[in-house]
Amino acid sequence: MPQLSKRTALFTESVIRRMTRVADLHGAINLSQGFPDFDPPPELLAAAARTAEAGPHQYAVTWGAPNFRRALALKVSRFMGFPIDADEHIVVTCGSTEAMMASMLAVCNPGDKVIVFSPFYENYGADAILSGAEPIYVELRPPRFTFDPDELRKAFEQKPKAIILCNPSNPTGRVFTRDELETIASLALEFDAFVITDEVYEHIVYEPHHHIYMASLPGMFERTISCNSLSKTYSITGWRLGYVVAPPEAADAVKKVHDFLTVGAAAPLQEAAVTALGLPEAYYRSLLDVYTEKREVFLKALDAAGLTYVTPEGAYYVLVDVSEFKLRDDVAFCEWLAQYVGVAGVPGSSFFHEPTRHLVRFHFAKKNETLEEAGRRLLGLQEAWGKHAP
Ligand code: GLN
Repeated sequence: MPQLSKRTALFTESVIRRMTRVADLHGAINLSQGFPDFDPPPELLAAAARTAEAGPHQYAVTWGAPNFRRALALKVSRFMGFPIDADEHIVVTCGSTEAMMASMLAVCNPGDKVIVFSPFYENYGADAILSGAEPIYVELRPPRFTFDPDELRKAFEQKPKAIILCNPSNPTGRVFTRDELETIASLALEFDAFVITDEVYEHIVYEPHHHIYMASLPGMFERTISCNSLSKTYSITGWRLGYVVAPPEAADAVKKVHDFLTVGAAAPLQEAAVTALGLPEAYYRSLLDVYTEKREVFLKALDAAGLTYVTPEGAYYVLVDVSEFKLRDDVAFCEWLAQYVGVAGVPGSSFFHEPTRHLVRFHFAKKNETLEEAGRRLLGLQEAWGKHAP
């Protein structure tokens, strides 16, 4: 066989998504890949049933069906606090995964540098390789997962084309403060860099923290490409509906890349999702109440199992410290955990540039009873380790 491309040799398949298959193999509770085991809002299911009958079933406009973009523009304007134009500023993509990939391809020339905070959501590593960009990693330091402004400045001094900012952050659960965002913004302005954000957890931010959109800071809309999706907010990760909000010139570049990557997101699902975008304010409050309770249920379960962690301020992940097991291989540990304890998590090493083997990421986007059962299983962790440690 002729040789395959060099770029595919530079990254592995997603460990997060592989862990879902490992969980399925062992019948483990899947707290690895972050997706809910509960239904989307009933209004949304009814809308999907209607579109199954009435359509549309053919291609939508490649950068998004006009009514879906109009609904997005209204919702985004409401939350970002300034007007967003459905035609000029929005590109609908297949999930925020494509939003990020298309943004990177639209912004980066091969060899350009891109700042990535570490730990980071594993897609960004592959996105950088596929777009030919070279990551400059800047550490988010535990326990609060903050960055050192001097280290960030040194990274900007290397003249990166962009910085990727996941806020609220996966996997740390950090919600960046206005001060931190202003530090990033002022460096992006000073060194003329884009900020590419991943804000899919914008509505899952626990009291007393709150989400601030990078694009809403003074002077930043013009250089911010905000990637987002409906997956987490409306519990529809399988619908693959994402979008980019960007100034017109950047949005046009993303549109072109997106057109040739995927042509477009599923037309009937865009139509059905108009209903989601029209949900009232109360929906977002109750979503947050639901996740606030889930966080409490799961953190209590971790406490009961004697596991330590950094309390997430947002999103639905928690990094759990498993130093006591003195792991040489956290991937093998997570496979073992799925098989012998019946709970699947993601090895921390998937998220860190620095060598890290003492963390496991669990997510808590599951029914309370699923989380309680996971908690019961984790109570047996020490004993199982005593009996079956690899
Ligand atoms: N964001 C989810 C996670 O971190 C997974 C998303 C995906 O697999 N596309 O687990």
